[in-house]
Amino acid sequence: MAQQPPLNPGDEAEPGVPGSGEDLCPDCNGSGKQDGAECKTCGGTGKVIQGIGGG
Ligand SMILES: [Zn+2]
Repeated sequence: MAQQPPLNPGDEAEPGVPGSGEDLCPDCNGSGKQDGAECKTCGGTGKVIQGIGGG
């Protein structure tokens, strides 16, 4: 079984789940950093997984 990476705080759904998709992190606008430090919302990836169509 493949190990899934832990979800970042900004993720709303697990990667690969139908109806979800990547989006730019709203807190760092995709830069992956906040105030020179790693953005905790996206874990420094600059992206979060969001549910689509749920609002
Ligand atoms: Zn971020």
